[in-house]
Parts: sequence; C-alpha cells; structure tokens
Amino acid sequence: MAMQHGTAGHLRIDLGALVANYRLIAGHVAPASVAGVVKADAYGLGAAPVSAALYAAGCRHFFVAHLCEAVTLKPHLPTDTTLYILNGLPPGAEADCAAIGAVPVLNALEQIDSWAALARTLGRRLPGVIQVDSGMARLGLTPDDLARLRQSPELLDGSDLRLVMTHLACADDPDDAFNPHQRASFDAIASQFPGVPRSIDNSGGAMTAGVGHGDIVRAGIALNGGAPHGQPNPMQSVVALDAYIVQLRTVEAGAGVGYGLTHRFDRPSRVATISVGYADGWPRHLSNRGSAWIGGVRVPIVGRVSMDSMALDVTDVPDALLHAGAPVELIGPHQTIDDVAAQADTISYEILTRLGHRYARTYLPAPVATPDRSIMA
Ligand SMILES: *Cc1c(COP(=O)(O)O)cnc(C)c1O
Repeated sequence: MAMQHGTAGHLRIDLGALVANYRLIAGHVAPASVAGVVKADAYGLGAAPVSAALYAAGCRHFFVAHLCEAVTLKPHLPTDTTLYILNGLPPGAEADCAAIGAVPVLNALEQIDSWAALARTLGRRLPGVIQVDSGMARLGLTPDDLARLRQSPELLDGSDLRLVMTHLACADDPDDAFNPHQRASFDAIASQFPGVPRSIDNSGGAMTAGVGHGDIVRAGIALNGGAPHGQPNPMQSVVALDAYIVQLRTVEAGAGVGYGLTHRFDRPSRVATISVGYADGWPRHLSNRGSAWIGGVRVPIVGRVSMDSMALDVTDVPDALLHAGAPVELIGPHQTIDDVAAQADTISYEILTRLGHRYARTYLPAPVATPDRSIMA
C-alpha cells in the first residue's frame, strides 16, 4: 500500500463489492427494484461515486434525507434517475425543491398543502411521495391525516404521486412480531392509493425472506456491507480503513498512557501511537476496550482515544511490522464495521457515518458490466 503521507489514514471503498451487494439485494427482492439510500454522503462513503457505481449497475432511484443533500447530488445524477428527499418539505423549501426536480416525501398534510399551492402557481402537477406512519411514530401521515385525505381527495390534486411508502421499526430482526403487523397495516392503508407503487423495506426488510417487497426497496447499510440482520452477514464488505503508526515507544511496568492515565501497563511494553482519533470518527467510547490489528495480531487500544491519535499495546507484534508509517488495520478482514460497532455499543451505521474527512480515499472501481446478450434485441 502506498503510504498516504500526511493524512489520518487510508480509507478504501470497494465499489465492486457495493455493486455485488446491490445485485444480491436485487435478486432477493425481484421483481421489486432497489433504490440506493445515499443520505449522509452515502453513509460517509461519498454520495457521488457510490451513486455512479449503483447507476452503472442499473439503479435508477436514489434517496437522500435533506434538500441540501439533493442539491449537492442532483448534478451528479443522470437525467433518467429519480431523487427523493426522505425528510420531506420544510416550510419555505418548496420552490427550491421543485427547481432541482427532486421528489419530496410528503410526511404531513401541511406539506401536501404547500406542495399543491406551488403546483397551482406553476400550473403543473408536482411529483411527490406519500409516507404513512404504520407504527414507528417517526415520520408520515397519521391515521387521522389519512381520514382527512379520504374526505378531501382534492388535497392531492396538485401532486403526481410516485410512491406510497412506510418505514419498518424492527426490520433488523426479521422474527419481530411487529414486522407482520406493520406490513399488514401498510397494505390496508396503501389500498387508499390505488395504482400508486409501494415502498416498504429498508435493508433489513429487503433481506427478510417470505414477504412481499412492494415495488421499490430502499437499501442503505446492506449496500455498504453492513449486516441487514444479525450474523452471518451475507453482504460483501465495502470499507477498509488503515491508520498508520505515528510513533513507537517502550514503557516500564507500572507506566500509564494517555489522558487521565486510565491504563497502566503490567509488564514492560511497546506502545504505538497511531494516526486516528475521535475526530476521525473512531468512537472515544472505545478507550480501553476496542482493538486494531497489525499483521494479523490483535492489538488492544490502551488509554483514552484522543482527538487525533490513540495508543495500542503492540508488545506482541513482530518487530519488523513496527515502524513509523506502518499500516494498522482498523476496519478490514479481521474486524468488520459490525465488529467495531459491537465493541462500541452502537450500530454499523454510526461507525460509517462518523468516518471523518482526514483520510486519503481510494475507490476501487466496479468491474465494467458486460452487456447481457439475452436481453439485447
Ligand atoms: C435510512 C433509511 C433507509 C435505509 O435504511 P437501511 O437500514 O440503511 O437500509 C430506508 N428508508 C428510510 C425511510 C430511511 O430513513
């Protein structure tokens, strides 16, 4: 690996693995299609390159959370794509949303009203998605809102409905009894919008066997290699992260390390200070509990994680692997994003979205797709 001089580390993003994950999900949910959820800069991996790789694999629907994300991503997307905004239409954002041709998820009657008002002003119908709350109590129309819509269907006159969607609260556990309950409520509600395509599943829902997946699934974490459910994880890992050794030292038994000297060595030890800290997204919660890997040897984090560095006990690592600039695996073959998340009492989503901006990034390209002759005229 060429050392990435002067950075916090080297983040490798394997777009071939991302595309393999896209295909695995697509095969699982067919005939539904897979939309790429690329909010939060594609979970920290880069919304533009991730979307381009997904597009080349056939993906045409993309979701972000905020209008500002849509504004940034839209110029990178080919024109035969649809870009949706999950968090909907904040008051006053209507004209900007219409101007870039993004499709807002309409989460409340006020949003439907203000979208319709803009449609009247512009003299054309505007594309929108209706989200209904089927039990998560986060976003979307309530049963009361839906009753009002039934009484006043003209509220939707200005909208060209592209999808009716909901979000599952417990899809990371396919056996949770709330899943069939939410799916059934959604089916009942969606019949209020005949002919409108349906979207229910995130990664967990999409990889659940034995259920219908509607018309479009919205996949995020599984595309990026995170486990949609528990283990084993069927997805290929997309992200690898190496830090590098900044400095090595030898300490006596009884010496402490880092802020607060929260770790004391019980034997003479070698300590490596490495280039990643909490400002690079490495959870401070991993102080004295997380680990890294050097040459296949597990090396524990000792002391508190600092802003720009942390210390590893490398006493058991062969000398030849220990020198300034040597790579240290933080995410890779020995330690997945789900492993790191488990050590930090969190989820892979948080590990990915916190990855900082001080890494050198390498995108490994997806293999160029060969045309499928069976579908060529
Ligand atoms: C973030 C999000 C998704 C993607 O979820 P994953 O679990 O990452 O696949 C899908 N739908 C909605 C509404 C979301 O907010």
